[in-house]
Amino acid sequence: MSALKSMLAASVAASVLIASQASAQDGEAAPITVIHAGTLLAAPGEEPASTERSIVIQNGVITGVETGYIEPVGAEIVDLSDMYVLPGLIDSHVHISGELSATSRLDRMTLDDADAALDGARNARTTLRAGFTTVRDCGGPMSIFALRDAIRDGDVPGPRILASGPAITPTGGHGDINGYRHEIIDLFSGGNACNGADDCRRAVREAVRAGADFIKITATGGVLSNTNAGVGQQFFDDELEAIVETARMLGREVTAHAHGREGVEAALRAGVASIEHGTYLNEMTVDLFNEHEAYLVPTVLAGVTVAEMAEAGMLPPAVRDKALEVGPQMIDMLGIARRGGVRIAFGTDSGVSRHGQNARELELMLESGFSAEEAIAAATIVAAEHINLEEEIGRIAPGFSADIIAVSGDPYANISEMRDVDFVMARGEVALDPQRD
Ligand SMILES: [Zn+2]
Repeated sequence: MSALKSMLAASVAASVLIASQASAQDGEAAPITVIHAGTLLAAPGEEPASTERSIVIQNGVITGVETGYIEPVGAEIVDLSDMYVLPGLIDSHVHISGELSATSRLDRMTLDDADAALDGARNARTTLRAGFTTVRDCGGPMSIFALRDAIRDGDVPGPRILASGPAITPTGGHGDINGYRHEIIDLFSGGNACNGADDCRRAVREAVRAGADFIKITATGGVLSNTNAGVGQQFFDDELEAIVETARMLGREVTAHAHGREGVEAALRAGVASIEHGTYLNEMTVDLFNEHEAYLVPTVLAGVTVAEMAEAGMLPPAVRDKALEVGPQMIDMLGIARRGGVRIAFGTDSGVSRHGQNARELELMLESGFSAEEAIAAATIVAAEHINLEEEIGRIAPGFSADIIAVSGDPYANISEMRDVDFVMARGEVALDPQRD
């Protein structure tokens, strides 16, 4: 062992000692894992890449990042010395409990919440192994809370989930059930539909009572609701204000699904923390984003996916027309937002597209003018800030969760490397290992 290496080993041994003292009441020290990272992209967009680094991990947390390859006594070594190592990716907009298909309109008639939980567990594993160690579930069945908690407790493999539960919607709006005969609508329309400011306060309170980490609303019409009502504003201004104010009282932020420009702007003026999609925003809307320090979650992949489905004849007529119009618009929208300096957090709307293909959004971001480094920053550091976890995830540094991925080629030179992630660790547990899988 070189003098430098043994010195580093000694310094790690000292920090290991402190950690083992901290867990001494359990009888034995928690095991240590050390990742040898060939090229480390520790803080995309903020720090240049470094080479030959050792990432020290204990109890699911990064305890050190050291120069050179160290091998503390008793530590498990993960050799990624020929790889590019990055923080785990964050997708700010998924629907993990289901996946759109030509027959998925039938799912509501045939599948119950237990099916959704188990489908969600399968999709969560797929998403994790694609390199996404944290997701925000932006509207889904009540079973999402059980899945979130089971993953948190280590019972089921998957990304850390922040969940809204069912999106809050006006009656007949994008988040309500629609396009079925009225008896079926009566059967399934739930408390997430609200009308008038008072009723919307109730809906927010019920969402928080059910376990929502944040509040998702449908401020405008949407592409996939089977109703010929466009993609314009659907909540009134006083309803939007009541929702944001009630959420704030309960310590929750609101994110708004919104396509039409007036609906995007009404939601921003009401004080939502972020806009999902933002399809028809313009330069004036960009100013409102910046004034309110709101984030945009662009989900271009959803636009591309629904346009592809429409062209393949997979969608009912009321949906098809909206899909063909909205889809192609989204790449231009993202370019306008980026040039205007809007804070942009990576998000895909996966579940519309297939789970596990989330990283395709990065390629679409480059088509909108992003550099590869900017796009990866949007999926790590910026996304962590957006969901208020910037002290815990989004970078590889001491004190951060051991959410770590690796790819075989340089993703800053070729963004498509991110579609083939070779190694995944989530909260210190290896979920995908090139030696094992
Ligand atoms: Zn969505």
